[in-house]
Amino acid sequence: MKDLWFDPSQCLIDGQWIAPSGGQTLPLFDPSTGEEIGAIARGQAADIDAAVGAATKAWQGAWGRTPAAERGRILMALGRLVAEKVDVLARIEAADVGKPLKQARADAVALARYLEFYGGAADKLHGETIPYLDGYTVYTLREPHGVTGHIVPWNYPMQIIGRSVGAALAAGNACVLKPAEDACLTALAFADLARQVGLPDGALNVVPGLGAEAGAALTAHPGVHHLSFTGSVATGRMVQRAASENVVPVTLELGGKSPQIVFDDADLEAALPFLVNAGIQNCGQTCSASSRILVQRKVYEQVREAMASRYAGLRVGKAVDDLDVGPVISAKQKGLVEGFLDKGQGLEIAGQATLNDLPSDGYYVAPTLYAGVAQDHALAQDEIFGPVQVMIPFEDEAEAVAIANGTDYGLVAGVWTRDGARQMRMARSIRAGQVFLNNYGAGGGVELPFGGIGKSGHGREKGFEALYGFTTLKTVAAYHG
Ligand code: NAD
Repeated sequence: MKDLWFDPSQCLIDGQWIAPSGGQTLPLFDPSTGEEIGAIARGQAADIDAAVGAATKAWQGAWGRTPAAERGRILMALGRLVAEKVDVLARIEAADVGKPLKQARADAVALARYLEFYGGAADKLHGETIPYLDGYTVYTLREPHGVTGHIVPWNYPMQIIGRSVGAALAAGNACVLKPAEDACLTALAFADLARQVGLPDGALNVVPGLGAEAGAALTAHPGVHHLSFTGSVATGRMVQRAASENVVPVTLELGGKSPQIVFDDADLEAALPFLVNAGIQNCGQTCSASSRILVQRKVYEQVREAMASRYAGLRVGKAVDDLDVGPVISAKQKGLVEGFLDKGQGLEIAGQATLNDLPSDGYYVAPTLYAGVAQDHALAQDEIFGPVQVMIPFEDEAEAVAIANGTDYGLVAGVWTRDGARQMRMARSIRAGQVFLNNYGAGGGVELPFGGIGKSGHGREKGFEALYGFTTLKTVAAYHG
């Protein structure tokens, strides 16, 4: 790929580009065309071991001794460099993930913003003094865990690296990053840019490879002190099991089945773009996608018609054509989404985009809106991870809460109503890590703690809260009489 200035069939370990120990690669496909466009490293346990060794050395050495303010400066310089490279990073991501250029660009901008935020926070993270017995002075120290392992999925590589690696580095940890086998190019690009701004060798190491090989080796490695995992529930379980063997803390950012709830007093004009966009952005492959639209009966038909007309107008195309929706990530993902569409047979399709003149080997799926879906239907319960939304009618507030909370997940929710008291009641009643009132997503919100409950995971990333997760607290009690 012409935009790459590095060889993606190598790993970046201890500041050096090196071939994976087994000398093997994995093929790289452009989801927009299905064409093979290159090869990435197939890292193995030995590469993970080398990366953990390099990170240990950095944490105990140059990076560990770097003052917090200087760590912050390096991260902010990295943020500025990422901001200068937004266009090239967006082109790389569009080719790798298949997301339309505008959406890929937004991810690169968010990555720069995470680095600015966490760079600025690095020297503002501190402990406390605690009043105690006569003759004592007690204080707490916030210290890095040491070596942190980061396992990242393919849907938003740049944003997830920004929020997890950005926060971990700000707190003084040294990182080993295992990006997804389906999309690892911007992870490698990011680590190379970090090297260029002077991040000490070993503070950030990247080992691409398969989950069952490089990923499993990272989760099982006894030299890793904290694991941050973003991905599916099934893999999250394995990661948590592996973490329990070494008794290390783990942050799990998993899936979702997030609702937007539209009451009959809502500002529908304001709500409509959010109702559809939050379902089809990144072709629905978003953990916080709003895949369930709950609508009060009085306005149900009106909302159904308006959403249907938006669906009919959606333009699907190659990432470089920069339309509303691109392909899904892989042939496998296309098969998974089509499996859900099969389960939808017999349901009412309220709206659907048309697929015109697309490369025949690209991984395209028609964005589809189902109406009148029963709460216990698989399409209303399971995470689809494709451009598919279901509409579910409700009568009153109590029923809306019951439906909203009626899945295994609890990541985010949106509530559309002009009634202020109802807004407060809903915000308290909904089981989710984030609740948005009269908006959805709050524009990305680098500053806003994010994470789930239930099968959506545990722990929080983003915002200042993430820094607490990437540190451990030490209490020092001094008796001086
Ligand atoms: P996945 O679980 O298949 O893969 C995620 C990562 O885990 C990849 O890097 C993969 O290589 C690695 N992995 C796979 N098997 C492993 C193993 N045995 N040990 C260690 N690592 C392993 O998930 P995916 O299909 O890449 O991503 C989609 C899922 O991620 C969806 O469920 C989505 O909701 C979730 N997700 C959640 C968030 C969030 O913040 N909550 C964000 C993005 C994606």
